Amino acid sequence: MLKKPLLLIGFFGVLLVIGGFIFNPSFVGHFTHDGSVNSSMALIGIFLIQFYMITIGGLIIVESIIFKFLPSEKRTVQYLFGICAIGLVIVITGVLLHPSFIEHHLNIFKVDEERFDKLCNIQLGIITLGFLIAFISVFLYRGKLAVKKLATISLVLVILIYLVVVDFSYVNAKYPRNIILKPGEYSKVLDLFLGRDILLSDFSPRSTLKVERRQILKAKYPVIDIHFHFHSPFMTAEDKRILKPANLIKVMDSLGVKTIVGFDAVETDLDSLLGLYQREYPDKFFVYSDMISGDQGRILTDEFMASLSSKLEKFHELGMQGIGEFPKDIGLKIKDTSGKIIPLDDKRLAPLFEKAGELGMPVIMHTADPTAFFDPINKYNERYIELSKYPAWSYFGPQFPSKEKLIKEREHIIKEHPKTIFIGCHMGMNPEDLSYVGYMLDTYLNYYVDISAVLSDLGRQPYTARKFFIKYQDRILFGTDGGVLFGQEGWTIERFYRSYFEFLETENEYIDYPEQQAHNQGNWYIYGINLPDDVLQKIYYKNAEKILFGNESN
Ligand SMILES: [Zn+2]
Ligand SMILES: [Zn+2]
Repeated sequence: MLKKPLLLIGFFGVLLVIGGFIFNPSFVGHFTHDGSVNSSMALIGIFLIQFYMITIGGLIIVESIIFKFLPSEKRTVQYLFGICAIGLVIVITGVLLHPSFIEHHLNIFKVDEERFDKLCNIQLGIITLGFLIAFISVFLYRGKLAVKKLATISLVLVILIYLVVVDFSYVNAKYPRNIILKPGEYSKVLDLFLGRDILLSDFSPRSTLKVERRQILKAKYPVIDIHFHFHSPFMTAEDKRILKPANLIKVMDSLGVKTIVGFDAVETDLDSLLGLYQREYPDKFFVYSDMISGDQGRILTDEFMASLSSKLEKFHELGMQGIGEFPKDIGLKIKDTSGKIIPLDDKRLAPLFEKAGELGMPVIMHTADPTAFFDPINKYNERYIELSKYPAWSYFGPQFPSKEKLIKEREHIIKEHPKTIFIGCHMGMNPEDLSYVGYMLDTYLNYYVDISAVLSDLGRQPYTARKFFIKYQDRILFGTDGGVLFGQEGWTIERFYRSYFEFLETENEYIDYPEQQAHNQGNWYIYGINLPDDVLQKIYYKNAEKILFGNESN
């Protein structure tokens, strides 16, 4: 009686398994327009269908074989066991759908931020579905069992295992810093609660070191600040008052700053800024535009990129003499209309850099960011406090290009446009690796660096930095990123500039610097590098004069 249906069911299982093997992407590709499956989600779908067909088919074959030899009163139990097994197979699929598994083993596509989120949600859905099936089958199985308590315990067990699996494969992926199911962490929470410990972000030690500190009120030689911001999102009304040309000149004179190169002009205010600063005080101010931001938001069209070089010509006619600061978001975040991040060495941007060279306009370029911003935000990250305060500054994750890729792209541009002067701001954003900066300066004579906003890194390696400054004394420019932090945490414009003078001119030890307190850049102090006078002169103004005025008096 039973043999024929069983044979049929078994045969159905075999069909499923064979179907599963046939139903692969290349087979499905035969039925699409261009002969292949390109959509990543479709590939995952095919992979899942294949997986289920083979597994469920296999289970049906095993089930029907077991059924054949099992006494009839035990068959229901066996049937339920089969359903439970299917549920668990689904759970395993869910666990395997972990974004990093897909990225590294299936190699179907790159898991970006959006996909990462989507995959986590799909994963959670599949795991929950699998456990629901398992739970229902155990629940039904419970009625057949003599020892009801054992069945109830099994139900509780299914729920507990579900929670553990969700924690490991979903919660940990989506919220890597959670402490659920990390019992080692619980005592720390209690310590915090009882006031026996403090949060790392609250740690603000005051140095007890008593050591002579030479104050520098005014720079020893005239200073050209090649990196300054006229606009900043952080600026207060007081900052804006200081930045009015007449006020700024008074402060500059008192500090010994003779010229400032200021950024942030956009198409709509370039002419008025040029009028306000540069035309009014031609030896005091230069006004640059970065050419990109403020214009087109985060998406650049082909037309916009094609218009850049003629726009630069127009700006040059108005009196603009350089590009700055070319935004780090190019290469890192800004996309074109196809939704892809525009690489720094994109061909569509090349005419702009070429034109800058033709017109003798230096390109002050910010590329990438501190290396720690590309690392996971965890206890090993040396900029942990800063990143936990400003998580948006983190570029860790598959959705961002690596720092190595970004600086390779920059190198490519510098090589491709030998007649254009490029100034890598913030020590080329490689202050943690001066040997790399040295390689770039040795290889490309059209490359320079400025020292803005990286005193934390330069000043924690005073011996190496001093040797570096002396070796590359003709290629390093003074810059501060001034304007961005004025007024924050007591960093007045005077104190701000003096910290740069102190670093360059003295051998003061264990000193603070603006970015440390203003946004916890590094949680350490720095040391002055006490440069010789001739080197100091080049870095303060002579190198910049060569670039800004073509002055070869060096
Ligand atoms: Zn910058
Ligand atoms: Zn800047």
